[in-house]
Amino acid sequence: MFDVSFIPAFKDNYIWLLTQGKRAFVVDPGHATPVLARLEADGLALEGILVTHHHADHQGGVAELTARWPAKVYAPGNESITGCTHPLSGGECIDVLGQNVRVMAVPGHTRGHLAYYVEGALFCGDTLFGAGCGRLFEGTPEQMSASLASIAALPETTRIYCAHEYTAMNLRFAVAVEPKNAALQTRVARVGELRAAGLPSVPSTLAEEKATNPFLRCQEPAVIAAALEHGAAGCDPVAVFAAIRGWRNNF
Ligand SMILES: [Zn+2]
Repeated sequence: MFDVSFIPAFKDNYIWLLTQGKRAFVVDPGHATPVLARLEADGLALEGILVTHHHADHQGGVAELTARWPAKVYAPGNESITGCTHPLSGGECIDVLGQNVRVMAVPGHTRGHLAYYVEGALFCGDTLFGAGCGRLFEGTPEQMSASLASIAALPETTRIYCAHEYTAMNLRFAVAVEPKNAALQTRVARVGELRAAGLPSVPSTLAEEKATNPFLRCQEPAVIAAALEHGAAGCDPVAVFAAIRGWRNNF
C-alpha cells in the first residue's frame, strides 16, 4: 500500500499526497505551488492526479502541475476539468502506484462527484467530512443519501480522507442534533485537543463517522426526532437527511 500524507492549501483544504518510494499521486490539487514545493523537497515524481469534482479549490493546480510533470489526470467525465486525460463515471478500477483503486460515483455536492477507494482508505473530496457532509450544490437529497449509503457500506476501519478541515465546526452542529450522544462528546474532546495542538482531525474512520456524523445516522431515533422538529416531511432516511442538511445550511 502507498503512503498517504497531506499538503495543506488555502485556508482549510487538504491535498492528499500518495507516495510509493519516489513515485507520487496527488488528490484534488486546488493549488499547484505547495504541491510543487513538496514534490521538489522530497524528490518525488508526479505520475498522476485524482480529481473528485470540478470546484476550483480541487482542480485549480492541475494545469500547472501537468505542465511540469506528464501526469495522468483522472476526473469526472461529466464535469469540466482542465487537462483531464482519463474521464471517469464511477465503477471503474484504476491503478494507482500499483494498487487497485475503485472509483465510486457519489453525486450530490456536484453532479459528477467521484470518490476513490482503496482497501483501507477513501478519498471522498467534499462528499463526506469529519462529522458532516458537503452542501448540495448540484444534486438532490436522494442522490446524496444514496452516495452516503454507498460509503457507509465500506468496511468500518476505512480511513476517511476528506478534503477540508471542517470537523470542529461540524461537531458543533452534530451536538445540536444529538446532545445525548456519548461518542460525540468523546470526539468533541479529542478533536479539540488535536486542533489545539495544531494537528489535523482527519483522517477519521468510517466507524467513527457512523457513531458521530448525523448525516450517516438518519435512521437513529434521536436524529429522526431532531429532523422532525426541523421540518422533516417524514421519517424515511431521505426526508430526515434533507431536513438535517437544510438545518445545517442555516446553522
Ligand atoms: Zn466542492
